[in-house]
Amino acid sequence: MRIRIGTKLIASFVLFVLLIVAVALYSVVVGEKSLQESIGRSSVFLAEEMLRRVDESVYLKIEGLQRYLKRPYLQETILKSNREFERIANVEEYIESKDREWVSALKDEITPFMKELLSNELSKDLRREFIEFYEKKYGYDVFSELFVTNKYGANVAQTGKTTDYRQDDEEWWWISREKGFYVSDVEYDESAGTYAISVGVRAEDESGNFIGVIKAVVSVEEIIREAESRTQQYGTTVVKLLTKDGRLIYVTEDFQFLEDVSGKEFFKKIKKGSDFFVSVEDGREKLFSCAHSIGYRTYQGRKWILVVSHDIQEVLGPAFILRGLIVAVSCFLIAIALLLAIFLSRAITKPITILTKGAEAIGRGNLEQRVEVKTKDEIGTLAATFNEMAERRKRADEELKQALEELKRSNAELEQFAYIASHDLQEPLRMVKSYVQNLELRYKDKLDSEANEFIAHTLDGVTRMQALINDLLAYSRVGTRGKPFEPTDCEAVLDEALTNLKVAIEESSAEITYTPLPTVMADPGELVQLFQNLIGNAIKFRSKEAPRICISAEKKKKEWVFSVQDNGIGIDPELSERIFAIFQRLHTEDEYAGTGVGLAICKKIVERHGGQIWVESEPGKGSTFYFTLTPENA
Ligand code: ADP
Repeated sequence: MRIRIGTKLIASFVLFVLLIVAVALYSVVVGEKSLQESIGRSSVFLAEEMLRRVDESVYLKIEGLQRYLKRPYLQETILKSNREFERIANVEEYIESKDREWVSALKDEITPFMKELLSNELSKDLRREFIEFYEKKYGYDVFSELFVTNKYGANVAQTGKTTDYRQDDEEWWWISREKGFYVSDVEYDESAGTYAISVGVRAEDESGNFIGVIKAVVSVEEIIREAESRTQQYGTTVVKLLTKDGRLIYVTEDFQFLEDVSGKEFFKKIKKGSDFFVSVEDGREKLFSCAHSIGYRTYQGRKWILVVSHDIQEVLGPAFILRGLIVAVSCFLIAIALLLAIFLSRAITKPITILTKGAEAIGRGNLEQRVEVKTKDEIGTLAATFNEMAERRKRADEELKQALEELKRSNAELEQFAYIASHDLQEPLRMVKSYVQNLELRYKDKLDSEANEFIAHTLDGVTRMQALINDLLAYSRVGTRGKPFEPTDCEAVLDEALTNLKVAIEESSAEITYTPLPTVMADPGELVQLFQNLIGNAIKFRSKEAPRICISAEKKKKEWVFSVQDNGIGIDPELSERIFAIFQRLHTEDEYAGTGVGLAICKKIVERHGGQIWVESEPGKGSTFYFTLTPENA
């Protein structure tokens, strides 16, 4: 496949830029990932810290209550109540009846019995120590309600009206009594009308015996205040505090208290330990980090879950901006690279095109052609070298032409000389021959035998010299008549040649066959000579058998290929070129006497007619001479 230099250049430039862009994008993606990871981790850390503070806050409440329970006045009050209850004959029944009475009172009704409990010294102290103290200190309720029961579960003191009188029928009371303290999950506190957790703590006397329980209702607000204050990491940061079964305790934006979100996608992705992950919430992709409460000191926590979430768009904002920037810069770079590549490829291919065109023109023979590339680079050098080469070629061509002219001229002179020489030699030779013949007639067998021999040798030499001169004359005469070629019927030509060869044919009993021959554009006289020479040779260089000669013609492409085939002695293929040169004889035995000019004449005739001549032969089997001629209507 041919790919143009320009295309290659552009492709490699673009490929290079794309590679850089790919690396840049890859690093942005890696950057995004690690950014996400670091934000996720730090948020997990934050969530863990917030939960720890939530648990600590609960623990501090327990501790505060435990400290309070050590106060002598409280101890005395509870012990006194216990002693009183011990004295009652049927405590169960007494408590039961009081509870029934309590519960059956109207919602806002305060019975004298209730009033007595609500207004005793301990109740006042509770209100002072917890409710009013914090209200004054912080300006909001930390404890919304407190009450103390004796060891029978009956109320001893309370800051507000409780729903019932006896508490030993409730779980928290028993857990506080058995385990030392109890912390509830978030619940709606009916008597206080707020969401809260209740904390129960076991009261003991100095020797550690169980004497009663204190229960405090702590507002959730207070517990999560810590968490709330440390959340503003990003504009879209949302902190959620959840119970372990997925109900909302607190969210830093509008929320429905205790709303069940356990069905949401992000909640399902929460695992046991601290973790961060990407999930979709309300149609937006967010990065969630979560932690589970593990308690604080002896308080084991309620397994609450704290979830911090940020919008991915915001968290990875800088990375997204960077990505956008890279894409923009890449587009710009690709455009620049393209322009550069186009410019460069033009700069390279233009001179090359000029060079190619120049080379083609010179190839077509226009030696005046020069290329106009003036750049100072390798291509410029190439162009200069090219021009120099063309110049040299032009000079060489001119020299060659001159040499050729000269050669032609001397050739013509030589031929002229040969012609004149042979022509002028003909006359004295004929005279010599006729005198020698007269000598032979008059003196043969009349002198001594040596004289006979001398006369015979002289006659033979003169005859050979005559043949040579005739051949030379024929050779130099080829083309001298300067007649234009005419349509020539080759069968008529062959006829004439065979007539001229009649004696030789009859003597050798040669068998001559031929296929139909065409009409060609030629000089008829020269064609007769051509056929005559070739057929004459075929007869002369025969083997022991009588010569069988076949002449035929075959049309190939635009020309006729003639062949003269014999069954003679054949020619060594290595010498088959040489025999067409003048005076070349391969067989010099007497029986093959010749001048070595015949084939040279043939070659000259064929070439004058624009054709070619060659031979194919197998020594001992025969030869075939081929030559080409132009058809009549070409
Ligand atoms: P000449 O026939 O006068 O010797 P040619 O130029 O006709 O000269 O031939 C050159 C040489 O080519 C011959 O001497 C002969 O050796 C060889 N030759 C030509 N024609 C044939 C042929 N038909 N068969 C074998 N040899 C040939």
